Amino acid sequence: MDEKLRRKVADVLEFYQELGIEEFYVQRSDPAKVKVNSEVRPSEGKALMKPVSVRKDTDARPLSPKTVFRETPAPPQVPAAMPARSAAPADTVPQSMDLFESPSPAPGPRQNETLDQVREDLGDCHRCGLAAGRNTIVFGQGNPHAELVFVGEGPGADEDAQGLPFVGRAGRLLNRMIEFVGMKREEVYICNIVKCRPPGNRTPLPDEIEMCSPFLLRQIRTINPRLVCCLGSPAVKTLLGVKEGITKIRGRFYDFQGTKALPTFHPAYILRNPREEKTLREDFQKIVEFLKSSR
Ligand code: URA
Repeated sequence: MDEKLRRKVADVLEFYQELGIEEFYVQRSDPAKVKVNSEVRPSEGKALMKPVSVRKDTDARPLSPKTVFRETPAPPQVPAAMPARSAAPADTVPQSMDLFESPSPAPGPRQNETLDQVREDLGDCHRCGLAAGRNTIVFGQGNPHAELVFVGEGPGADEDAQGLPFVGRAGRLLNRMIEFVGMKREEVYICNIVKCRPPGNRTPLPDEIEMCSPFLLRQIRTINPRLVCCLGSPAVKTLLGVKEGITKIRGRFYDFQGTKALPTFHPAYILRNPREEKTLREDFQKIVEFLKSSR
């Protein structure tokens, strides 16, 4: 161990010792204590660093992107009625347990929080490497009480410059699709799985998503929409944990946080594959029917 790290470790251990807490680490000089501590299985210690998971058979709302999913898709048809929504529990989001690194973990959600509070907690975020290359944090835009939320992948150059989601070419197509469902852009809420532009518009990396998505989940929970439309595979994987390709699962309704989610193609994909616009319209037609039926 290098000297700097060794000193940091020593400082931290000394700090805990002063608090009278010694049991969680091994005292090299005291074999008896080694024995005591060996009763703690390594996996128990490790579990502290993992998101708290939610049993699939409870109604509790999920706590982290890794635990939010119900893997069985609802039947492809529009449900007749929305399931009752569960109350938001006072819970936590995954927290970094690293004692030495600076990024502060995403704070847990407050009860009945507002989008402004979520934004405030996000702050001038440097929790992942994307901060280094961004111009602006693209938090999200739209109606804080929207019935319909769109979740894309991450800001591109235009979004990074303006601080708003989906304002480039893909955004213009999304605007048209929002009009197609008979709504205005201001009526819906638009956001992404990461809030800072990935370099070269690459797909966000798992650790970037892990750092950022607790804020996305809090936004969605706060808005409490009727439907979350996942635009493209990364959004589907992040929110629904579904492994199958978007082509296979698009247009189906999934249970998500006591409400429904509908995966569809990302507008940028449609710009590259204009023949698929027909399919996109089919999916958006399902949104129309769903919002009608669930009123
Ligand atoms: N693509 C996305 O996924 N999100 C944006 O905000 C813009 C383009």
